[in-house]
Amino acid sequence: MQRFTCAVCSAPLFFENSRCLACGTQLGFHRGERTLAPLDDDGVYRDLEGRSLRRCVNLKLSGCTWLVREEGDECFSCTLTRTRPDDHDTTGLAQFLDAERSKRHLVYELDVLGLPIEDRDRNPERGLAFDLLSSVEEKVVIGHQNGLITIDLAETVDSHREKMRARLDEPYRTMLGHFRHETGHYFEGTLVFSDPDLTERARSIFGDDRASYQDALKRHYAEGAPEDWRREHISTYATMHPYEDFAETFAHYLHICDTVDTALHYGLAEGPGPNSSEDFGDVVRETWIPLSVALNQVNRSMGANDLYPFVLPPSVIAKLDFVHKLRVRVGEPVAGPPA
Ligand SMILES: [Zn+2]
Ligand SMILES: [Zn+2]
Ligand SMILES: [Zn+2]
Repeated sequence: MQRFTCAVCSAPLFFENSRCLACGTQLGFHRGERTLAPLDDDGVYRDLEGRSLRRCVNLKLSGCTWLVREEGDECFSCTLTRTRPDDHDTTGLAQFLDAERSKRHLVYELDVLGLPIEDRDRNPERGLAFDLLSSVEEKVVIGHQNGLITIDLAETVDSHREKMRARLDEPYRTMLGHFRHETGHYFEGTLVFSDPDLTERARSIFGDDRASYQDALKRHYAEGAPEDWRREHISTYATMHPYEDFAETFAHYLHICDTVDTALHYGLAEGPGPNSSEDFGDVVRETWIPLSVALNQVNRSMGANDLYPFVLPPSVIAKLDFVHKLRVRVGEPVAGPPA
């Protein structure tokens, strides 16, 4: 994540800010310019191309500050949400606000990396969309199918998520992590399985995705991961099926790119970033490993759990490099209209 500053008073700003805390200026996020733009007294920002923009209609509902063309419009990130809690579901709506914050972070990062998102307007069958459902009254299974991602909003509640994390013996579980993992399934569909050569190459790296998913699921929950899973996988869940191995790898690719990017912006790291090396192994070895080791120690100094409780063996670095090359192949950072 980049560093933002107030265009009026130069105070530091953060991606989530709707107002500069130093000078009070109201702000809106411009997706194309990638700035927190200052709004005038009418709530309008005139952008570099002379368009008058205002904030997304969901500012109150989900804290969304993204700019749109017409009053009452939803921004691109918000339109990706197909289902949200009802207006009378106050618990669900509070959780929805947290989940939407993570989703905007995800969309921002996909834009920075140039990973193309097709929504359901452009591709009704397989475009990206989100059902953000509260499991208070119904069972919700987090997952992905043909571009449609289902998220259990209960995962925004720390006590619930921590209980699930402990039960599943995971070292890391966050809402942003869920979004990253599930979009990994979407991008494997759009970027890998649309190309026979890449599909073959993915099968040689992650395993044959034609293996029965139901059998894999049953086996995983009955027997757990193989003893030596650390040699070739980033997590126990990644051992379940080649689909999950790709999605876990993709999530880690986004974890690493975003964290390295943030550290470089704040002067906390040295070395190649996600956009300055063709070989992702260089980014991992020269920037990410020294940085994550230091950040783990920083967390231990605060009595907190390791920031990155994972080990990256050579075979996992090769998987990350596969995702990196896929991304570089299609990647063109988004610029232009905000909505
Ligand atoms: Zn300011
Ligand atoms: Zn919005
Ligand atoms: Zn998955």
